[in-house]
Amino acid sequence: MKKQTFHTIIIGAGPAGLSCARALAAQGKKVLVCERNRTIGPKTCAGGVTWAGIRSAIPEQLIERQFPVQNVSSSLQKTRLIGQEPMVSTINRGRLGQWMAKAAAVAGAEIVTHTLVTKIDKAAIHTNRGTFTFDFLVGADGANSLVRRHLGLPVENMGIGIQYHIPTSLPDMVWHLDPGHFNTGYCWIFPQARRTSVGAYCCRSHLSPRLLKKSLHTWLEHKKINVQGLRPEAATINFDYRGWRFNNIFLAGDAAGLASGLTGEGIVPAIISGEEIAEIIVNPHHHPHRLNRLLSNHKRHSRLLRAAGKNRWGCRLIMESLLLALKLKLIPFSALEMAN
Ligand SMILES: Cc1cc2nc3c(=O)[nH]c(=O)nc-3n(C[C@H](O)[C@H](O)[C@H](O)COP(=O)(O)OP(=O)(O)OC[C@H]3O[C@@H](n4cnc5c(N)ncnc54)[C@H](O)[C@@H]3O)c2cc1C
Repeated sequence: MKKQTFHTIIIGAGPAGLSCARALAAQGKKVLVCERNRTIGPKTCAGGVTWAGIRSAIPEQLIERQFPVQNVSSSLQKTRLIGQEPMVSTINRGRLGQWMAKAAAVAGAEIVTHTLVTKIDKAAIHTNRGTFTFDFLVGADGANSLVRRHLGLPVENMGIGIQYHIPTSLPDMVWHLDPGHFNTGYCWIFPQARRTSVGAYCCRSHLSPRLLKKSLHTWLEHKKINVQGLRPEAATINFDYRGWRFNNIFLAGDAAGLASGLTGEGIVPAIISGEEIAEIIVNPHHHPHRLNRLLSNHKRHSRLLRAAGKNRWGCRLIMESLLLALKLKLIPFSALEMAN
């Protein structure tokens, strides 16, 4: 590839980068997406998308399974929340990535895979395929973002998720909050079409990855789910939000810390932030209503997480009260969604 200048360069072909690329290319902008992996899509992720996200960001043909019933439990309580609509659906990240990449390419974006961005200068990026210059740069490069480091923004609050994919589609979607074992986090069963993600999530400063894995194994044994011989997958989730616009450089999705610290939900925040950033780049007077809504939910989730993380008893009280409030329908399940 010869050296070229692009209106916008996007680093990362995850949901944040591809949604931004499609929206910019659709407005006639010359866009380059650099992705370090050879294949777009696959990512350590349980693939759960809440109802508001399904309505606003995910096409129906990508939905693997839909769950109008949510089974939520703790060590003290258990409830089945029943909705009119599927409260959570599951998708396959490989299929989502391929679909989004096609949509971006059809709109006119250039996507290069196996292209690792190693350095960023004032108006250029350096990769294993050469140097490219930009007017605008979008960091959509996930939880360990190079663009974020280039901007000098620290990440002090990270979540960690660990999961196994068992090769069968279990019947029910399950969330288990148990502060004794998972502190402010939880463990899950998220069935997709032909497999099921079983895993656990917690804020890294509230529980070590080693204890998170141990607690997950204890719970899986209790549920009689056998993961022997299966490969565990783990990755970080960034919810340390410190802004998204820095002159001609933008941060989207996990790079901006837009995932929920409470639930780890990050797919829809990534898509919405990518689209909103594209709008702002094209029209600086655009008012980012959807991003602002996301940011106010993000703030609420972070406040609750901070309060629960103060001590064990406070955590137990908050988690059990949350479950009781859901059970008694004092709050709807959608209160936990990032894009509601
Ligand atoms: C175990 C686990 C389970 C999860 N389950 C859910 C769930 O059920 N629902 C949900 O909503 N969220 C879930 N998440 C969170 C979700 O996966 C992320 O929030 C989401 O993927 C963020 O999207 P993104 O586009 O910002 O980043 P990513 O999806 O991480 O994409 C970033 C891309 O940038 C590329 N990249 C990085 N650095 C460079 C570089 N230097 N050069 C070139 N390319 C680069 C990467 O290869 C990657 O493709 C889960 C996370 C984990 C770890």
